[in-house]
Amino acid sequence: MTPNVENALKAATDTKALLVGRGVLREAAPLFKEQFGDKRALIVADTTTFGIAGRDVSEFLRQGGVPQDEAFVFSEPEMHAEYHHVEALAERLRATDAIPVAVGSGTVNDLCKLAAHLVERPYMIVGTAASMDGYTSFGASITADGAKQTFNCPAPRAVLADLDIFARAPADMTAAGYADLFSKVTAGGDWLVADMLAVEPIIPRAWDIVQGGLADALGDPAGVRAGDAVALGKLVEGLMLAGFAMQYSRISRPASGAEHYISHLWDMEGHRYRGHGVSHGFQVAVGTVAILAFYEQLFKHDLAALDIERCCAAWPELAKVESDAMAEFGSTVFRDRVLSESRAKYINKEQLAAKLALVKQNWIALKPRLEKQLLPVAEAQRLLRLAGAPAEPEDVGASRAQLRRALTVAPMLRNRVTVLDLAHYTGLFDTCIDGLFGKGGRWEI
Ligand SMILES: [Zn+2]
Repeated sequence: MTPNVENALKAATDTKALLVGRGVLREAAPLFKEQFGDKRALIVADTTTFGIAGRDVSEFLRQGGVPQDEAFVFSEPEMHAEYHHVEALAERLRATDAIPVAVGSGTVNDLCKLAAHLVERPYMIVGTAASMDGYTSFGASITADGAKQTFNCPAPRAVLADLDIFARAPADMTAAGYADLFSKVTAGGDWLVADMLAVEPIIPRAWDIVQGGLADALGDPAGVRAGDAVALGKLVEGLMLAGFAMQYSRISRPASGAEHYISHLWDMEGHRYRGHGVSHGFQVAVGTVAILAFYEQLFKHDLAALDIERCCAAWPELAKVESDAMAEFGSTVFRDRVLSESRAKYINKEQLAAKLALVKQNWIALKPRLEKQLLPVAEAQRLLRLAGAPAEPEDVGASRAQLRRALTVAPMLRNRVTVLDLAHYTGLFDTCIDGLFGKGGRWEI
């Protein structure tokens, strides 16, 4: 275990054990017994992950003397994290006192995390792919009432990640995980912005957990793609650390900024490419590139020289913000949520003047910090492509117009301040968008 992981485990409130390495599946029984004593186990998987590792975990538990209930296997093809699956699993768990041992990646882990929480029981996860950062995170992303929502629920007590299994996962899943970790570059940038604006201060320990080893974890995308054990091990560790940062802070801010809202929008609207949904990581890859490009546009302006009075004079009333949001979402099931998030985020002209004073005062110090945190767009695209992840909107079936719209409506989705809000505050949003999508822009339409 590296010092970064040791430090993260010490800070963790829910997770007590993390085992990452080649062949560690064999240690499933001792890990289970160490954390859950002589309790029974209940394997939770889908038909794919049961075949990949569920059956083996069951056998290793049996050999290690862990009594088991019959496995719970989700049988629906192309399964999504929908609430009715949580209810079905919770019902099964209520009939036993066995500890759920989830075997899978994003979907199975999220379903089991919430179901275990509903029956007030800890659980263990055996990962099957390095596809996202949710293994160790607080909260589960589940679709309920037509919308993807994050439910508050504890992270797993024990996490097992066998790199031999991760290396055999489909290349797209690993590339998606690389991209989800890559998004911590812009997530970090947005957190610095929110910190400067005195909205969400940096939590130093959470920052260190996720950002401390980030460059190293992202350092060998080609190795990740080739399934190199060292490169894959570093990626997995980085993803676990991102989850630990959320577990420690009890918020997703350390791992998610504006790039994630682009993905959330496309999730909400059921975006598909070539007949399939696009993975979280792949959507986030395009979101990250877009936000890096947006930062580049913003950096062309000297925010220390802002005219506060002019910005305040141009600032819209709440009614205008609401009518813009309703023009986009008024006839959708997201109407009420978008309205309440937009209202919660709205600031009046006096509050705006105070924010802009902070920008003027801090921009000279913040800009170089941001430039150090962020990467040039071309470099980000090169790294993402080496990992096998998308780097242009077209790679996930999104047109330039769709990307422009996503940047425009993303701030409406969530009461969380990002670089997009900073651009609105400073009256530069339209100029930045024109710089990207107007004549001669990177994504000229
Ligand atoms: Zn993510």
